[in-house]
Amino acid sequence: MFSLSSPHNHTPWCDGKSTAEEMVQSAIRHGFVSLGFSGHAKQDFDVFYAMDDSREAAYITEIRRLQSQYAGQIRIWLGMERDRYSTADRNNFEYVLGSVHYLPLPDGAMLPVDGPMDMIIPAIRDHFGGDGLAYAQAYYKRLGEYIKDYRPDIIGHFDLVMRNNRNGELFDPESPAYLMAATDAMDQAIMGCDVLEINTGGMARSGAPGPYPTRGLLDYWRQIGGQVIMAGDCHQARQIAHGYELAASMVRDAGFKKAAFLGRHDVLFEWVEVV
Ligand SMILES: [Zn+2]
Ligand SMILES: [Zn+2]
Repeated sequence: MFSLSSPHNHTPWCDGKSTAEEMVQSAIRHGFVSLGFSGHAKQDFDVFYAMDDSREAAYITEIRRLQSQYAGQIRIWLGMERDRYSTADRNNFEYVLGSVHYLPLPDGAMLPVDGPMDMIIPAIRDHFGGDGLAYAQAYYKRLGEYIKDYRPDIIGHFDLVMRNNRNGELFDPESPAYLMAATDAMDQAIMGCDVLEINTGGMARSGAPGPYPTRGLLDYWRQIGGQVIMAGDCHQARQIAHGYELAASMVRDAGFKKAAFLGRHDVLFEWVEVV
């Protein structure tokens, strides 16, 4: 049995749709024992997608207020989702979710890997010789390096390049070269962080058939000694636990003996046996 919790939630201070308090109330209604906010940390590009200094200050004030107001009902954690290219200071937060959302292009642009295909396709054509696999390899190289060096508390949506590749539009996700790029990144990442999220946000927001990462990569993560935490990557309060049943069965089937959830007191992670 899993203790309901999620370390990955957004608010209107970045790109979330529901207020932080609506998210807390939804979590309580769903029986969550803890809830972590992970606003997109500030960055010098795509500024409306992330928090700037003033929005970060307002976010911190509001999450602190909710921590006090709902103490005794649910443990609320103040975190951030920090992209590799963010400039935010982790000392302002209780935990960090580390993610890669962008690839820097030679022309200076930042390509959002979860952006629309009418950005991705021309970028692959112009900067990766039309080779979608090379694009995926570039993503994994940056992800592995970032997690190893920055050492976040949790790794966000590991195979985000699958967001635009549901039907193999960009590369073959079963090909040995793709799997090698992803597993090499896992080998690097685990040196900096051993807690990987099972992220159901794509299921909630874009109809993905399952969470990040895919089952094959999850199996590899377990084999190298990695741990997991369930995460909603939630942008709307009513979707707070969307996809959790499927994600939980995937964790069980992959053979994990325990899973993390955000602690109910002062320790960041507690662990529950997976049965
Ligand atoms: Zn993200
Ligand atoms: Zn997110």
